[in-house]
Parts: sequence; structure tokens; C-alpha cells
Amino acid sequence: MKNLLTIILFISVINNIHTQIDKVHPPNWWIGFENQNLQLLIKEQNISDYEVSIDYPGIKIIDIHEANSPNYIFIDLNISSMTKEGDVKIIFSKNNQKLTYNYSLKKRRTIQNQNKGFDSSDVVYLITPDRYANGNIDNDIIDGLKESKINRSDGYARHGGDLKGIINNLSYIEDMGFTSIWLNPVLINDMKKGSYHGYATTDYYTVDPRFGTLDEYIELSKKASKKNIKIIKDIIVNHCGLYHWWMDDLPFENWLNYQEVYLNSNEETIEKNTVYSNHRRSTIQDIYASESDYKGMLEGWFVPTMPDLNQKNQFMANYLIQNSIWWIETLNLAGIRQDTYPYADKGFLSDWAGRIMNEYPSFNIVGEEWSYNPIRIAYWQKDNKNKDGYESNLKSVMDFAMQKAIFEGISEEENWNTGLIKIYENLANDFHYNDPNSLLIFNDNHDMSRIFTQMRENINQTKMAMSIMLVLPRIPQVLYGTEILMQDSANPGDHGLIRTDFLGGWNDDNQNAFTGKNLSEEQLDMQNYLKVLLNFRKNNSAIHKGRTMHYAPSNGTYLLARMNNHEKVLIIINKNKKDIKIDTDRFYELGLKGEELTDIHSGEKYLWSNRITIPKYTSIILTTD
Ligand code: CA
Repeated sequence: MKNLLTIILFISVINNIHTQIDKVHPPNWWIGFENQNLQLLIKEQNISDYEVSIDYPGIKIIDIHEANSPNYIFIDLNISSMTKEGDVKIIFSKNNQKLTYNYSLKKRRTIQNQNKGFDSSDVVYLITPDRYANGNIDNDIIDGLKESKINRSDGYARHGGDLKGIINNLSYIEDMGFTSIWLNPVLINDMKKGSYHGYATTDYYTVDPRFGTLDEYIELSKKASKKNIKIIKDIIVNHCGLYHWWMDDLPFENWLNYQEVYLNSNEETIEKNTVYSNHRRSTIQDIYASESDYKGMLEGWFVPTMPDLNQKNQFMANYLIQNSIWWIETLNLAGIRQDTYPYADKGFLSDWAGRIMNEYPSFNIVGEEWSYNPIRIAYWQKDNKNKDGYESNLKSVMDFAMQKAIFEGISEEENWNTGLIKIYENLANDFHYNDPNSLLIFNDNHDMSRIFTQMRENINQTKMAMSIMLVLPRIPQVLYGTEILMQDSANPGDHGLIRTDFLGGWNDDNQNAFTGKNLSEEQLDMQNYLKVLLNFRKNNSAIHKGRTMHYAPSNGTYLLARMNNHEKVLIIINKNKKDIKIDTDRFYELGLKGEELTDIHSGEKYLWSNRITIPKYTSIILTTD
């Protein structure tokens, strides 16, 4: 009897844990979304031969779709808001054979704890996780992955940085005054080389074990949230990595664009055979664009190792939308940074962002449109009146136009149409944006030469560029290491060099930016400069949401004011290598006559009389508060 009982128990254990299903994506779901539909991707050998049934109160199978490959099916479910959390047993039967899968259904967080997006009250700290801090040396090398070694002296190899390293240094990030963290992607990139950058996803639901575990990602989000630091996830819907698991058995003939080229190639020949992107982003809006140019842009592969996903396939579209929602819900994200925005199908992008914003109304998404043309940047922003009728659901777009204007404005010689006038005139383009305050501004990022190198390692100019960026009516983003004058001057623009290791993130580092140990005077000065400014900005509603007024540059100086009923904040840039007296009569509208303003860095007081003296070759930020 006892033996029989053991056998029965044993069988029931087997039934519970032995799922026999290769993949079910998304791996779990939640009750209580606005959209009660869920589409499961099921992958298993000849799964299309099986009947599917579910017996769970409140869960209905709406439809079951076969794919071109017999090894996939897609199950459309409806999940009633009245359903209870638990394991939903999905049964797959064929003749006498039965496969089961226990699908976990959870409750959503309460509305009060729902995701608040990032906005112009935030400053985003951009971190390349492999290069920030190595919090766990045990995950540096993972056997079985295609790139399973580290080499810190190679800019394109893995260096060992991870999520734990970021968790360990949240207090530093908080003290500096950053309020959000954007991590370059941390999902698995099981690629042969260059996997450190993270943009070649090989599974959309798995954290790269070299960065850590899903639990550590959740821990990061929770601990950051306790410090009022928001987490922004980098997501890529345009392309995956060449070694994504589905590349061996694609569900549909149109799962990827230019799939037929891939099928007749191998890694060595793929570069020759692949139709890869012409990167002509203007073709998306160009009314004169040829079909071949347009297709080259939209359907071409980003690079030969990154296959282009076809979001016009509704199963792919659902897969990507649900994947984003899964991460938002799992990590309680504040935002998404969507990579290579114009490269994906724009109808899909509208649905994707719309679905997310519908579930999370105060969430934010920033899209990367690498264009210096405000017309094209504005096209992607929500509620922009586009002549082709395109309706975007994207709140925030990256402002490369302003980034370039700041670079030129600060680094160029002053002349009628060069220098500070570039910043002045580019800001004057804000009339064209539906919501300029929600654009993301930056002086550099992981793909661009660092600001200190752009400014030819001139600290005064670097401070000018950083200070103007941080008071503009925008959401500012700062690349890790800017605060310690990291540079890529030996080979400007080299990606490995831009993404140099942060000082102090590795145990054997001789210098340490987290503690200040062995930093140069200039590095400490810059770190403190930014820390003061960021912490000033943190609670400054005039900068977050105030009115903006600026005055045409004159004699190498430029004044911009941010104002609300409580406070006025001024930035005055003086590019001259001598002190300049400015006549304040021009600025009568600011209503500052007789007021005393304070320099937020030096503490020096400025009495706003007829003339004030602006120190040489610097920018000062003054407040009336
Ligand atoms: Ca590590």
C-alpha cells in the first residue's frame, strides 16, 4: 500500500513538473489588464498535431492558430478580470498522448503602485552595464555561451560589469542627483563577439546571465525605487540577434524580413547575401522616396548579425507588444527607451506604444530618431499633426537636433551665424513640437563621442555644455562617466572606447569614482560641479515645468531663463576669455531689477543692477530663491 502511494505521488509530481513543452511565451501573465486578450506562443515538436484545452474559471480559448512550422501554435486567450490567480493547466492531447503545462496567472499591482513615467523633472543616467561595476565575479564567464571569456583590455570584449554592480552603487547614483537609470539592454545576447553591447537579443525573456538573474533585475528595480530612482528599460523591436533561438526554426515564412536570403546563407556568407539597411531614415516620411530605398530602410537588416523582425506579421507584433508589457509589469518600470525607432514598421509602433500607454497612462517611452532635423523628430511625437495622417503614441523622442546645436554652440567660434546662435535658433524651433518639454536631451550617449572629447578636453566648455543641457525645457540624459571626464580622445567615436570601464567598478581599480580615491583634481571638480547642479535641479520646479525665455546671443554671451511663480533660474554663458559687463535693460521682462541672485555653484551673490559682470569663459546658473 505504502509503495503504491509512493508511486501515485511520484506520478503526480511528474505530471506537475514535467511540462514537456519547450517554450510558452510570455512565461506568465496577469489578471486585470484593460486588454483581456493574451496570445501565447507555444513551441514544441509537432505541437500543431495536438488538441488544446484549458479548464479554468474565467479563462477562455478564443482561437488557436497554426504557423508555417508545425512546431509552433499560437493560442488566443481571454482572461476575465474576475479570474483568480493560480496555475492554469493547459492540456495538449494527441491520440493517447497528453502534455500539460502549468501557466502561472498573477494579480497585477494595485493602481496606487502603478508605474509613474519619467519626465522633465528627472535626469536620466545612462549606464552600459558591462562597463560600470563588477558586483559578482562569479558570473563573468558563463560556460556554454558563445562568448565565454572576459578581457578588460579589449574594448569590444566583455569586461564583467553586471546588475549587482549597479545595485551596489545606487547610493552613489542617488547622491549625485540622478533620478532615473537607463541601462543599455541586459537581455541575453548569446553572440560570438561584441555581446557586451546588448543590442542583439537572442531571447526576449531572459536576462543575460553575465549581467545576472531576473531576480537581480527585480532587486535593482525595487532598491532603486526606494531611493526614488526610476528604471528605464532599453527595448529593441526592430531586430534580434543572429543566434536568437527561433532562427533555427522560424514560425512563419514572413517572421523576418528578407528571410529567404538568410535561409540560403551561413554566418560567413551572410554579409554578402543579406539585404541590409541603407539606414536612410528620411525615406519613412519622404514623399519622393523610391520603393527600393524605402524597403531597404524598413526591411533591410540593421547589420548582418541583426535580422530584421517583420512587425507586419500580427503574431510577431503581439509577441513584441506582450513582451514589453511583461517587462513593465515584472520590473515595475518607469519607462522604455526604444532603440532605432524609425526602423520598425510605423503602424506597428503606433499600436505598440498605444497598447502600453493604454495599460500604463502615466508611463513614458522615448524613441531614438537619430535625425538633426526637428521636422522628423516632431513627426514621431504623440499628437503631432502629421500631413500623412500618421498618429504616433510616443510621448518622448530623442533630440539629436538640440544635441548638435549645443555642441556647435559651445565649440564654434562666435560669429553672426556660428556659435551660441545655434543653441538660440534651435531652441526657437520648439514652436514646431507638440511637447518640447518631453524631448530627451543629451550631450553624448553610448554611440557618440563623449562630451569631454567633443570639447577637445576643455573643461570650461564641457561645463558650459552640461549646464545649458540641464536647464533647458527637456528631459536631460547624462552618460555614465561624464562626471569624471571620461573621454574617447585617442580614437573619437570608437564604441569600445566610449564605453570604457567606470573607475572603481572593479576591485583592482586604482582609481575609484564612487569614493573619490585617486581621482585627479579636475575629475573631482567635475564630479562636484555636476553633483551640485543635479541636486539643485532635482527639486527645482522652475526648471522642471517653468516658462522659458531667452535672449539672442550678443558679444559671446547668452542668457536663458526658466521661471515660475516662486523662482527664476538664469543661465548665462560667457564664452569670452575675459569678464564681460552686460547691460540688464534688455532683460526688463524678467523683472529682476534690484533682486539678489545666487550662483548655485560658488554661492556668490549678484545684485541685479543696471550692469552686472559675468566672469570669463564660464557659464553661471543663478537663482532668485
Ligand atoms: Ca560580473
